[in-house]
Amino acid sequence: MADYNEKLAIEGGKPVREAGLPSSYPGASLYGEEEARAASEVIKRKSPFRYYGFDVANKVKEFEKTFSEKIGSKHALGVTSGTASLIVAMKALGIGPGDKVIVPANTFEATPGAVIIAGAIPVFADADESMNIDPNEIDRLADKYTKAVIPVHILGNPCQMDKIMSIAGKHKLAVIEDNAQSCGLKYKGRYAGTFGDAGCFSLQINKIITTGDGGVVTTDSEKVYERAVRYHDQGMYREKEGFLSMNEEDDIFVGQNYRMSEISGAVALEQLKKLDYITGTMRRIKYMIKDGIKDIDGIKFRRINDEEGDAGSTLFMMLPGKDLAKRFIEALNAENVSCGSLYGGMPVYMMPHILKQRTVDKNGYPFNQLEEKVTYHAGMCPYIENELPKNVCIFLNPLLTDKDAEDIAHGIKKVAKHLL
Ligand SMILES: *Cc1c(COP(=O)(O)O)cnc(C)c1O
Repeated sequence: MADYNEKLAIEGGKPVREAGLPSSYPGASLYGEEEARAASEVIKRKSPFRYYGFDVANKVKEFEKTFSEKIGSKHALGVTSGTASLIVAMKALGIGPGDKVIVPANTFEATPGAVIIAGAIPVFADADESMNIDPNEIDRLADKYTKAVIPVHILGNPCQMDKIMSIAGKHKLAVIEDNAQSCGLKYKGRYAGTFGDAGCFSLQINKIITTGDGGVVTTDSEKVYERAVRYHDQGMYREKEGFLSMNEEDDIFVGQNYRMSEISGAVALEQLKKLDYITGTMRRIKYMIKDGIKDIDGIKFRRINDEEGDAGSTLFMMLPGKDLAKRFIEALNAENVSCGSLYGGMPVYMMPHILKQRTVDKNGYPFNQLEEKVTYHAGMCPYIENELPKNVCIFLNPLLTDKDAEDIAHGIKKVAKHLL
């Protein structure tokens, strides 16, 4: 029987585990011969560019087709990053200067950052007990300038997409799902990224499947897809017109370059085959741990909006207070149960460059585009400001075994016994 009264490792006792948990790079941790072979095929064909070369293998195209079939969207477009996917989606939907976009206060800086780079102004929505956007916040924040909302599925927990779609619909807002963190996540049986007007995914190394950097935009709309293709490729739609359209009747405009390389496409295709295994394994491990610690007084969990759809990437615990959470994290890490605090417990708008609206452009562009100045301040989203500092997160990965799950639960119980 485990003895939870043993001296804490942080006080010189014996740690529960001899070594820390494997780093949480879920997709990269399963890199193997498959990815190596796929990438080297592209190199051997000397054709790393998706649209032409010596002998193009059409890996990006195949990845896009497989991805859209897998998640159930009509179209998928490979891009260079999750941030690029957000910018491309916004531009495809016609969002830019003079517009406001609602984003959650609990997210990675790329979400508001992409809005600002797209020329629009982010306004921040508070969270509910799921630590995702509170759908009612959309009602509170929407005004005549608001054009879109970006719900973010934080750490494998789906947003309440039914409520969000209905409230957004009432205000005629476009919905862009930021699913950068949670590829493979479902809500009520349907894949996240297929509810809104567009879905955005990241293939960066911290995310569930990875090519190092990369991203995907999904949509069911022909028009949004066509505009996304043009925006991501200098205004061109090569598969339709061969090259830049000279026809002014077409929806032509100046674009960017966010094209995915064939090497990324080849690796992404192999990673996609491992997606179900990755999420399935992480989910099983997560619920084993959760079950093992369910009776501890003083540890609460964020509400999971659909446990069956959970991507399983993170065990998100909530402690009674901020200082306690900090001490808990130190003590649990000393037990070699690696853990951390999501976003340092801070809503994204408290980051100084966002709070102070420091942009790269002149005269505070795009914040100078609205007559009514939008400002940010501490206290803006009280729920997340109070609750986020109390988080303790364990970031999971598909290499974890049942024994690891037992160790993690053991470590949490031991630290809880002493600190809670
Ligand atoms: C990682 C992340 C992004 C950005 O993805 P990159 O591929 O790193 O550009 C966007 N939104 C969220 C919520 C993220 O976690």
